[in-house]
Amino acid sequence: MSLRIRDLPSPNHDERPADTPIDMLILHYTGMRSAGEAIERLRDPVARVSSHYVVDEDGAVLRLVPEARRAWHAGVSYWRGHSLLNGRSIGIEIVNPGHEWGYHDFPALQMAAVCDLCLDILARHPIPARNVVAHSDVAPDRKEDPGELFDWEGLARNGVGLWPADSDAACRDDVRVALADIGYRVDLDLPVVLRAFQRHWRPEAITGEADDRTRCRIGGMLEAIGANA
Ligand SMILES: [Zn+2]
Repeated sequence: MSLRIRDLPSPNHDERPADTPIDMLILHYTGMRSAGEAIERLRDPVARVSSHYVVDEDGAVLRLVPEARRAWHAGVSYWRGHSLLNGRSIGIEIVNPGHEWGYHDFPALQMAAVCDLCLDILARHPIPARNVVAHSDVAPDRKEDPGELFDWEGLARNGVGLWPADSDAACRDDVRVALADIGYRVDLDLPVVLRAFQRHWRPEAITGEADDRTRCRIGGMLEAIGANA
């Protein structure tokens, strides 16, 4: 693993709240036409957005904000009883035009760099596997990133985040309760939350419907969480 990081500071950060652990890792796509445009915005004091890291399509890693500081990437957000997650998370922006500008596969070099960067972060902070999530997981009514083309399964295979085993025995009927147990905010329309779950853990079909395969994946996640508790 050879992780090379270049510093390109952004002014967009402030102090983390006291007595709050860094126990979440939130992954995004940039969702802009070019990497340059995205990086410019993440460093623009007027935009008031940032992330700790940016990973370009060629695997280059930029550090915009020191991990000890609070970057401004998640906005209104919720996971496992906590809200406003910037205070307790590290945010990585992954260059991709996103659904608005021509969403495409994440290149292998870029995914390898994301994986190395995540492993490096996980080695330094008490972030449980179930707290490695998408922006769409923590803001399902507003966000779709990094989206269904992102290789969450490959990351999990390499020790970053969780991937549910396919197990028919795990099918769950009480879908809303199960989604809440995984960590989602469930006071939204259920299809909105289901689409967020599918974008991360059932990317073959983003339907917003609790079909059999989706219910089995939800059950599989509950089993994975139990095994990792
Ligand atoms: Zn995002």
